Amino acid sequence: MSETNQAAAEAYRSALAIIEGVEPRIAGAITAELHDQRESLKLIASENYASLPVLLTMGNWLSDKYAEGVVGRRFYAGCQNVDTVESVAAEHARALFGAEHAYVQPHSGIDANLVAYWAILSELIETPGVAEAGVKTVNDLTEEQWETLRAKMGNQRLLGMSLDAGGHLTHGFRPNISGKMFHQRAYGTDPETGLLDYAALQAQAQEFKPLIIVAGYSAYPRRVNFAKMREIADSVGAVLMVDMAHFAGLVAGKVFTGEEDPIPYADIVTTTTHKSLRGPRGGMVLSTKKYADAVDRGCPMVLGGPLSHMMAAKAVALAEARQDSFRTYAQNIADNAQALAEGFLKRGATLVTGGTDNHLVLLDVSSFGLTGRQAESALLDSGVVTNRNSIPRDPNGAWYTSGIRLGTPALTSRGFGADEFDKVAELMCDVLANTTPEIASTGKPGKAKYKLADGVAERTKAAAAELLTAHPLYPGLELA
Ligand SMILES: *Cc1c(COP(=O)(O)O)cnc(C)c1O
Repeated sequence: MSETNQAAAEAYRSALAIIEGVEPRIAGAITAELHDQRESLKLIASENYASLPVLLTMGNWLSDKYAEGVVGRRFYAGCQNVDTVESVAAEHARALFGAEHAYVQPHSGIDANLVAYWAILSELIETPGVAEAGVKTVNDLTEEQWETLRAKMGNQRLLGMSLDAGGHLTHGFRPNISGKMFHQRAYGTDPETGLLDYAALQAQAQEFKPLIIVAGYSAYPRRVNFAKMREIADSVGAVLMVDMAHFAGLVAGKVFTGEEDPIPYADIVTTTTHKSLRGPRGGMVLSTKKYADAVDRGCPMVLGGPLSHMMAAKAVALAEARQDSFRTYAQNIADNAQALAEGFLKRGATLVTGGTDNHLVLLDVSSFGLTGRQAESALLDSGVVTNRNSIPRDPNGAWYTSGIRLGTPALTSRGFGADEFDKVAELMCDVLANTTPEIASTGKPGKAKYKLADGVAERTKAAAAELLTAHPLYPGLELA
């Protein structure tokens, strides 16, 4: 690895010199970002560090090729090398996840969900009242049939996890276009345990009768039973879509197996490639054969032309994820999340659901007398990068919040183990215990301003630097 990194260091030094000749501020920002990434304790649950082979695959002339369509059915000539790239990436995705079909073009997780939604809506063409013998695509419909289908598509229901329970905006919420496409209702978690309540979800589905049930989350620190989700979807004739953007790495690394593996149970599974999966920034759709053709129409339905250089990097990342070492990595992500959670619990902190069994921990900072916003800022001042997050029924709303979301994928990539994560919990508790909200003009504690006791930021940064130096990022990659 270290030899690879030295070769990469030379490659990057040359590349940066060339960039510097055109726009030095950009070369400077790229170099500065490496230093920032190296020097902070990154606990953002949706971020990671891609390998150098993945990063190096992104910068090349595959970017210059137009390749609308899919392998063997392109709207442009001369796509033979893009065909190779897309085929290899899809082959790795199918093999890694055991999926019948893989579509590797989506540029992001949001795009992957849009492709999935339109694929599901496209199937409405087969429903009675719209379908005619021989009608296969929207182009075959008469003007009148098309109007009927359009009206039908715009009038469907979607059931997704509520935002404060950990759901995602793309699951039918108004700030995202999915909220404008569907009549949405949200399911939450049990007020006592904080866990998914499958019986309540079943009752809600029975009453609402959605076309689509979306499972998956960005901030729920527990596993989901997809067999139960399937049962609920079947009982109301809904399509089951799973958005595994956050936990794809745990599925790839076989930490989530059996009923916790979404692929055998869902009609369509979407994901990002850059979170726990540790690939390049991007998205993917996995589906059953039934949805394959509709999914493949993602470009030009909702996607711009494929980013062939990114599909190449996805192929490299997926090849890495098929190695045994990735299973070890994924297990370490989960073990480290346990250690982090235990580190907080033994120091008296409060966790949503009382712990974790995936890659993330949701810390309720109200026990420190802080809002999420204050906690996030005080931690950042101390070199600990996290993000504030709502907790179920959050009294401080979605802007200030009462939670801090933490994830283990990134630091686990650097080689942090259980002892280091316990130390991270200790450092964070020290910062939070030494942060006090400033009193607002109302005479009550404010929600944004805070005071961090003298010396805390400095001692936290020093302790963090020790951990980070022991586990360097891209060792041997020295730029200047
Ligand atoms: C991160 C995330 C997305 C969006 O991914 P982008 O690549 O940022 O568009 C979608 N769904 C879930 C559940 C996510 O966590």
